[in-house]
Amino acid sequence: SDHNLVYPTRPEDMDWSTYYPAFVAEGQEEPKLTEGMEVHKAEIGDSEQRIEQALAAKPKQMTKDIEVADIGCGFGGLLVALSPALPDTLILGLEIRVQVTDYVQDRIRALRTQSGNNKDFQNISCLRANTMKFLPNFFRKAQLSKIFICFPDPHFKARKHKQRIVSTTLNSEYAYVLKPGGIVYTITDVQDLHEWMVGHFEAHPSFERISEEEQEADPCVPIMREETEEGKKVARHQGQKYVALFRRMEDPPW
Ligand code: SAM
Repeated sequence: SDHNLVYPTRPEDMDWSTYYPAFVAEGQEEPKLTEGMEVHKAEIGDSEQRIEQALAAKPKQMTKDIEVADIGCGFGGLLVALSPALPDTLILGLEIRVQVTDYVQDRIRALRTQSGNNKDFQNISCLRANTMKFLPNFFRKAQLSKIFICFPDPHFKARKHKQRIVSTTLNSEYAYVLKPGGIVYTITDVQDLHEWMVGHFEAHPSFERISEEEQEADPCVPIMREETEEGKKVARHQGQKYVALFRRMEDPPW
């Protein structure tokens, strides 16, 4: 359940520095303590942790904002494959299961350590979140350029359809955080869910489906088809993969 999920009230309250330490703006690794904080530091002694807490009220400036989100990222295969393909872009996986999120964070930490001075994999990270509830708490309006929805849980039964992560309401949230021209990427092995996603995005005034020609020319599409854990599983069983991309259109003038 959600009561132990930590989330910011507003996107600007979120401190991303521990998620993307290589993208913290210069001069902030050792934040200057204000007079009040100096007093506080003297009171509590030198405990790093406590100072961290005192500073947590003011998120560190980053050199970049997150631009790509992987909704329900699972074990992180897409993040790891997208990292070198979009080396200058901050990419975030969002995952609701604690152990899975921990696994992805450990996986990324290990990759960063192995890479050493090459500084690879600094642009990907993973956050525990329920994307059905808190997406606008993490991202500003028009912040994102790409959203990936890969092999979402199908929730087959009609009475479970309200749990699907594509719906009229949720599509409005995706539209809110995406910039005009931004793209939603979807893939599934369940034909009924594919048709559901296409139906809901095509019916939404903010989205238009991208042509098959443009879809197949997009370098992110083969990565999405081949590199997610679920995509690999479907390939092993020689299952079908249904892909659909949708463009966030400009809002009409009013
Ligand atoms: N995208 C990955 C892939 O293609 O390998 C994982 C697909 S898996 C079938 C669906 C994932 O979405 C699961 O890891 C699940 O925990 C996660 N998930 C489901 N509902 C979610 C929600 N509301 N917020 C965040 N993650 C969610």
